[in-house]
Amino acid sequence: MVEVRTRELYLKNLKLEKKNEELERFAYVSSHDLQEPIRSIVGFAQLLNRKYQGQLDDQGEAYLEFITEASFRVKHLVSALLEFTRLGKKREIAAVDCNRVVNKILTTSKTLISSSAVDITVDELPTIQGCELEIGQLFQNLIHNAIKFRRKDETQAILKISVTKKKECWLFEIKDNGIGIGEEFKEKIFIIFQRLHTRDKYQGTGIGLAICKKIIELHQGKIWVESKEGSGSSFFFTLPVDK
Ligand code: ADP
Repeated sequence: MVEVRTRELYLKNLKLEKKNEELERFAYVSSHDLQEPIRSIVGFAQLLNRKYQGQLDDQGEAYLEFITEASFRVKHLVSALLEFTRLGKKREIAAVDCNRVVNKILTTSKTLISSSAVDITVDELPTIQGCELEIGQLFQNLIHNAIKFRRKDETQAILKISVTKKKECWLFEIKDNGIGIGEEFKEKIFIIFQRLHTRDKYQGTGIGLAICKKIIELHQGKIWVESKEGSGSSFFFTLPVDK
């Protein structure tokens, strides 16, 4: 009886894996193939804008602006989806110095950091075994979110990156004192395309945290958030200890 049940579960698992592969392939192919027509729409909308500027009436100008804006949005969404589906495809696993990764992000994000006047502290970080490109994306998404979702009042924006060594893993914390996240959204935000705000308040595609989750799962870790609405968030994730 147990044997039959085990075999059934095994077959179900195989079926699920196959379905999952099919879905991943579908998302990859469609986002890849959609890029070309979207590029054309964006290009021709820009051309129309340039060539017929001042010749359309107000309504015509407004329509063209809607088309341009919407086509840019689709372009960003599709390239974000493509980035998501590409994750895990070509990976090089090696020793990754997280200090170097974070320093690089802070250097390339200098303008964003100084224009938001963020006070940043970073602990001495470890070297881990992983895919450097993915670890870079992970830190970048979390750091940029911490800055993007800062409070818009007079409060000094603070970002702290720290780490603790546990028995089997490193536990990282990216802590901010921004707008925070309501208890009911703590899991939802890791689902692809889930956002808690309208575009006019905070720009974004809603894919950043889904990418972080996928990267952490590819590294056999866990990611979660602890937060209080209105008074900041701490994003925690684990990565394996470099043995
Ligand atoms: P995006 O930033 O493009 O909206 P993400 O997947 O990175 O997409 O984040 C999903 C949602 O989670 C955001 O729209 C925001 O509501 C919430 N969020 C993420 N990071 C933070 C943060 N540090 N503080 C407050 N809210 C956050």
